[in-house]
Amino acid sequence: MSLFRVNQNGFFLHSISKVFSGNPYYSKVNQQVTGKRWFSLDSTKMSNRQLSGSDLLKDNRQNKDLSFTMRERDQYKIRGLLPAAIRGQKLEAEAAMAYLNSLESNLTKYMFLRELQDRNERLFYRVLCENTEQLMPLVYTPVVGEACINYSRIFQRARGMYITVHDSGQISNILANWPEKDVKAIVVTDGERILGLGDLGANGMGIPVGKLSLYTALAGIPPNLTLPVTLDTGTDNQELLNNPFYIGLKQRRVRGPQYDDLIDEFMEAVIKRWGRSCLIQFEDFGNRNAFRLLEKYRDNYCTFNDDIQGTASVCVAGILASCRITGMRISQQKFLFFGAGEAALGIANLLVMAMEKEGVPNEEARDRIWLMDSRGLVVENREGGLDNEKIKFAKKAEPMKNLEAIVDLVKPTALIGVAAQPKAFNEKILKKMGALSDRPLIFPLSNPTSKAECTADEAYHATEGRCVFASGSPFDAVEINGKTFHPGQGNNAYIFPGISLAAIACGVHTIPDESFLIASKALADQVTDEDLAQGRVYPPLSDIREVSLKLAAKVAQYFYVESLATVRPEPTDKLLFMKTLQYDYSYV
Ligand code: NAD
Repeated sequence: MSLFRVNQNGFFLHSISKVFSGNPYYSKVNQQVTGKRWFSLDSTKMSNRQLSGSDLLKDNRQNKDLSFTMRERDQYKIRGLLPAAIRGQKLEAEAAMAYLNSLESNLTKYMFLRELQDRNERLFYRVLCENTEQLMPLVYTPVVGEACINYSRIFQRARGMYITVHDSGQISNILANWPEKDVKAIVVTDGERILGLGDLGANGMGIPVGKLSLYTALAGIPPNLTLPVTLDTGTDNQELLNNPFYIGLKQRRVRGPQYDDLIDEFMEAVIKRWGRSCLIQFEDFGNRNAFRLLEKYRDNYCTFNDDIQGTASVCVAGILASCRITGMRISQQKFLFFGAGEAALGIANLLVMAMEKEGVPNEEARDRIWLMDSRGLVVENREGGLDNEKIKFAKKAEPMKNLEAIVDLVKPTALIGVAAQPKAFNEKILKKMGALSDRPLIFPLSNPTSKAECTADEAYHATEGRCVFASGSPFDAVEINGKTFHPGQGNNAYIFPGISLAAIACGVHTIPDESFLIASKALADQVTDEDLAQGRVYPPLSDIREVSLKLAAKVAQYFYVESLATVRPEPTDKLLFMKTLQYDYSYV
């Protein structure tokens, strides 16, 4: 028995027989896969209700624009509502790209893509999947940052859900307004720390919307199973409060018990409506809440924080891959973090786990990691004390504020920039890194590009092309003495779509930290010797869809080994299992 495509709205079932081959429960599985879990036939039916007339053209899931055949135009009563030409999806995609390429500014390109998503979802995903490398920087960092800054000005049509502090006590009722019966993944923000741009309030919605587009484009998670959410608890951004067009609540941020109660209620309401395996990805929450909320929810909800754990995973992947260039183990490196926030502490904690796997005791691993924040070097005797997350990395040293002096003291072999302080890695500091090590690791990860601690060009030139470089935002290739370096981008998009696909497909109820180390290894393993020779510690972005799928399969394997997966019986071929669940953007 085998299954094929089942729908019009995108679930793609290849022949599933191979997935469970050799599995005694095979026939039961078919029943399960089609009936109960991962997607529900009910919701498929609901979204599949065939519309007609102008309603059909207004529905972004069913609309095919000029690709409707004459027969369909008659059948669905849209004849006369479209011009005569019939253009297949391929030609429509070419037309969309030609138009996009004719646009001048990145912001108008972003707006065109959003409009396309709202008008014809399958065409949007075809265009995004076929031009990932070109379009990812538009729907995601860095251009999404510009879009968020301007979100109230360019706002046209709401996407996702906005829940405000004034909705407390009613969140369940509000979630009931979402039209999709089945939601498997939510990306939620409160907009307090958008990329390196600070508090953008409800304008931060661009982030969940963009990230979920990548869930679909990179990991094939059907878009109707995803939901972007903004929890609008106010903003402390005075410019937004003064802006008459601001789309969010015009009040200062609510903090304390009222804030906590709102998040608690939201988490409970999600579970009540969509079940314990509904994934909730936290995104761009302010530092003071991000760690707290992760600690609070990680053991009881299917949740992760991409700024902390996703960043950690992608950065550690780059460091793992760089071991093949430097010939050093992770535990032989000495790390200095410029910035000690969500990204830095997430990476530092995962590095400790990676070093422990290399057989190094926890304390020794922590000794190899030094942090610096806005108040200077993180030291034990800091005036005013340190919070719990930083304390475990605090060193016995005198307080110091100057990065160059700190480099002299620490003598790092790896310098990681996550402070959103542009140009902080100046030529002197980069040269020092070049003097301290044959192959220094220089990772200016701050986003967007304008916040990067240095450019690829600066890092390669200051170290005569010897550094191993990775950045948060993309940089062009650099040529030194006839050799071309292709700087790697430590983009979280290598990690979060694949982890999420695995979590959803396996129906896990929690996502332990180790999943992120498994993902790091799965990503690093896909970096080829050819990539490394060109200076890349990540696979080319053009391969990211294949990379995500393989990564998801590895993480799924871990979920089964650790008995975290609730989807039974266990599929024998995890890769094929993931593939069978992926979205198909073609018109059926
Ligand atoms: P955060 O607000 O949690 O932390 C920022 C840290 O920088 C804080 O510890 C702060 O004290 C420190 N800092 C500020 N000014 C400083 C200064 N002058 N000197 C030294 N330290 C200073 O933010 P975050 O989530 O950790 O993100 C930081 C940056 O990393 C952002 O630009 C973000 O876009 C980027 N980031 C990149 C990736 C990636 O490339 N994959 C992933 C996540 C975050």
